[in-house]
Amino acid sequence: MASVSISNVQKSFGEVEVLKDISIDIADGEFVTLVGPSGCGKSTLLRMLAGLEKITNGSMAIDGRVVNNVPSMDRDIAMVFQNYALYPHMTVKENMGFSLKMRNASVQEIDDKVGHVAEILGLGKLLDRHPRQLSGGQRQRVAMGRAIVRNPKVFLFDEPLSNLDAKLRVAMRGEIKELHQRLRTTTVYVTHDQVEAMTMASKVVVMREGRVEQIGPPLELYDRPCNLFVASFIGSPAMNFLPGLCEGEVFSADCGLRLPMGSRGVKGRAVYGIRPEHCRLNTGGVEVEVIVVEPLGAETQLVLRSAGQDFVCVAHDRVDVHPGQTISIQPDVSKVHLFDVETGVRL
Ligand code: ADP
Ligand code: MG
Repeated sequence: MASVSISNVQKSFGEVEVLKDISIDIADGEFVTLVGPSGCGKSTLLRMLAGLEKITNGSMAIDGRVVNNVPSMDRDIAMVFQNYALYPHMTVKENMGFSLKMRNASVQEIDDKVGHVAEILGLGKLLDRHPRQLSGGQRQRVAMGRAIVRNPKVFLFDEPLSNLDAKLRVAMRGEIKELHQRLRTTTVYVTHDQVEAMTMASKVVVMREGRVEQIGPPLELYDRPCNLFVASFIGSPAMNFLPGLCEGEVFSADCGLRLPMGSRGVKGRAVYGIRPEHCRLNTGGVEVEVIVVEPLGAETQLVLRSAGQDFVCVAHDRVDVHPGQTISIQPDVSKVHLFDVETGVRL
């Protein structure tokens, strides 16, 4: 196990700068997710940590040792990719034991280690099969098994669940988390899926266009996003945003709505943010028209409209409302977020 320290790392491909001054500290045994829209530089950062991509500027250290010039195979890391990259002509057992074999481990040692990891991952009965004889989820497990067998200091995952269907993805998400709780190996996990990022990690790094926007525990990002980008990226359905003017304890939105904001001491123009689950329904407040009702069982999502402005609200119970009806919503003032109109920074 090991800590990972990324300090002022920058990366350019020719003239194009894709990572700008990235610094992230990861403690020994921590599970960190890197999340951000496609193209923001997550894979590049992970590949640099793995030694598959040169570091243009800055430094990366694993277990206190700077690895900028250490070849990939000497970094003691194991990487699991989206496409699994299993050898098609080898059995599950051969795939999982391959790295040990390359290191001249004895047949007995390979048998023992592969057997042990196969039990942990529920692959014990599949050891003689070839990858083509496995389901997507089983192949994913073999790819993880191959990484675990090496007993690395750090696990690196790059969108390992993207090729699985939604149900399997949720199941594997839980399995990887459970595995980490058991092995406690330092893990860096890349995903574009904010739900995956939030549910798996103890620390989430939100990236955009080659920069780190915010680092923190999942609920801190949710409760106190540092800017409009993080506020809109984390949470589903997304936070509602309204530009307008702060007037004492009332926010006067440009669309004409007047919303409570409590005493924030903020003056002038701002963007008002309220999450869909932080509006009470039919307890007075702002009148809105019901546009769409989406019953999901455990909750009901509503698209509401007033003064040409759409709102999304979520009720955690079943609500008897219909499109065309007028209802009222009341934002919980303690849950209102305010952001600077120009910079997007939290006020
Ligand atoms: P992500 O994994 O977040 O989707 P990537 O790290 O794959 O993003 O890519 C970040 C940016 O770097 C993208 O704009 C991509 O086009 C660019 N990029 C990645 N690899 C190369 C490369 N080998 N040469 C040039 N540009 C690259
Ligand atoms: Mg990627």
